[in-house]
Amino acid sequence: MSSSSNATPYAPNIQHTIPARSSVAVRLDKTQRLTVINTHGTQVVDFWAFVLPEPESLSTTRTHTTTTPLPIHLSMSHTRASTLHLSPLPGDTLVTNLREPILQLISDSTPGVHDTLIAACDRARYRQLISNAAEADQHANCVDNLHAAIARDTGSAYAFQPATTTAVATAPDPLNLFMNIPVTPLTLIPDVPVSGGAQLSFEPPRCGPGANVVFEAVVDCLVVMSACPQDRVKVNNMAPTEAHFIVHRR
Ligand SMILES: [Zn+2]
Repeated sequence: MSSSSNATPYAPNIQHTIPARSSVAVRLDKTQRLTVINTHGTQVVDFWAFVLPEPESLSTTRTHTTTTPLPIHLSMSHTRASTLHLSPLPGDTLVTNLREPILQLISDSTPGVHDTLIAACDRARYRQLISNAAEADQHANCVDNLHAAIARDTGSAYAFQPATTTAVATAPDPLNLFMNIPVTPLTLIPDVPVSGGAQLSFEPPRCGPGANVVFEAVVDCLVVMSACPQDRVKVNNMAPTEAHFIVHRR
């Protein structure tokens, strides 16, 4: 079994769409690059990456009826500890929950405003924001988008967690590309580079149309991107849109 036999259905060097309020799962082989485009300049893309098992182990363990779990994933808390940056800067290596490199941020044509602090939106979040529970449960959300994209685009070959392990879907903390969450110190201590506490707020993206980021895979991985459907706070300028991406040929 070659390493590309489980490729997701996104041909290289072609611009593909992340539909508004929806998601995609894209396989990247080691050294392959991915461009994520904020087409209209106002859209957050929740971004995850999962280490894919070695092809050798796949060939011995996978059948058409099994789903391979993906327990090793891009971790924002581990990446912050490694880079000492609140969100990645060009040249930074992003790491997993095992502190192993998974992706490098190659370039960023935005002002560099991304978020690593805020959880992906989920059904519980919309239950808080929408008084009608049925309406809240019908609202698209990034956590469900994550699981749906992996299932659809890999033919259920993989899953972040086996669906039977929890009644409620969860997700690793995402890298929220293009998401503007200003961090404002509440208490400044003069002449000392520390602050006591800080205030967060949800604000529209600071990003021009077509601005993009480029990643390179350090290992074979599965990237999932959700065009966040959040329309109850300002992170998508109250109007979720599509975004685009290109998987570059190796
Ligand atoms: Zn979202």
